[in-house]
Amino acid sequence: MTNAKTVLPGATLGVMGGGQLGRMFVHAAQAMGYFTAVLDPDPASPAGLVAHYHVDTGYLDEQGLAQLMQRSAAITTEFENVPAAALVTLGAHRPVAPGAEAVAVCQDRAEEKALFVRAGVPCAPHARIETEAELAAVPDSLLPGILKTARLGYDGKGQVRVADRAALAAAWGQLKQVPCVLEAMLPLALEISVVVARSAFDEVVQLPVQQNLHRDGILAVTQVPAPDASPALQQQASDCAAALARALGYVGVLCVEFFVLQDGRLVANEMAPRPHNSGHWSIDGSDVSQFELQVRTLTGLPLVAPRQHSPSVMLNLLGDLWFPQGASAAEVTPPWAKVLALPGVHLHLYGKASARPGRKMGHLTVTAASAAEARDVALQAAALLGLPAF
Ligand code: ATP
Ligand code: MG
Repeated sequence: MTNAKTVLPGATLGVMGGGQLGRMFVHAAQAMGYFTAVLDPDPASPAGLVAHYHVDTGYLDEQGLAQLMQRSAAITTEFENVPAAALVTLGAHRPVAPGAEAVAVCQDRAEEKALFVRAGVPCAPHARIETEAELAAVPDSLLPGILKTARLGYDGKGQVRVADRAALAAAWGQLKQVPCVLEAMLPLALEISVVVARSAFDEVVQLPVQQNLHRDGILAVTQVPAPDASPALQQQASDCAAALARALGYVGVLCVEFFVLQDGRLVANEMAPRPHNSGHWSIDGSDVSQFELQVRTLTGLPLVAPRQHSPSVMLNLLGDLWFPQGASAAEVTPPWAKVLALPGVHLHLYGKASARPGRKMGHLTVTAASAAEARDVALQAAALLGLPAF
């Protein structure tokens, strides 16, 4: 069913942010017959390169925002650090999903934690640190812990592990005493995530639970189905993700990251108000991808439950792969042809001009008839690329 507000194919969809998430949104939108416009200051941004229109101004540039609005029938965002003020400006004139308020909650770890508590979703024991007094009042039970900046952290940046009070005070200084959240260091057994999409009509659909392996604070491997999460735990995670989307009045695609503790408890870690790296497998392993869900929620098209048709394993491809002899040696193209000789390998490169260690250059998803086979082929691909086994 569509209603009067539905934005149908043929219209232009706008995106704030031109990274790989925007690029994959553009691909999904274009496949469905939409035109696309991207606002990103980088003239060679991954999404700007493939969109019909690229507005290459800053996120708060009035003329840039006006141009994006003029082009676009509806606008979404691909990265959560787009200034809320820009989304407010856009939202006054065009449908914007997710909305500025929901994005603002996800931009601030302290507000995010408050939402978890409000929605009855368990989260890590934590304390907000914005003043010397709050620093002094931190309970011993939060140490050892991880001090995280409340805003602008990603891929493990803006985080310091602290063993005791002295280290905590030093770490807060190192983070320039910006508002932070201290979390107790938890004994993790697993990390999982859930991608949930909610429409303006309160339809809620989800992708299956994703099991994630991080290396150096960056996602390295995602396996779906999650091999080590029990059905009960998966149900709990899915229910929590749906509850959070509803509690936020969220419209769009939301990813909730969880920890599974060694005693089996589930704890929400953080949310991303957008498609997520751990959901990239859905392009190849699900009949509806997280990016198509983003198109559907933005345009008001119906949401149908995605069906995973193939067990999938995703490997992130970081810039390190281009420097097998070390960062100071010459750049080498990874052995794509060998990797693509394996069955069920789907290579996604984001069109970034230069590789740098730690930079997300692409990912590959292995799909197969069974989870064992997908894992086996992914391990072969990893070995060819010089990535560790998992
Ligand atoms: P991203 O946005 O890329 O997911 P981030 O920089 O926002 O990452 P977090 O997700 O908060 O950071 O943390 C990164 C990783 O650090 C987690 O995936 C987990 O492996 C570890 N970690 C974070 N918080 C804790 C905690 N309280 N206890 C134990 N490990 C943690
Ligand atoms: Mg995270």
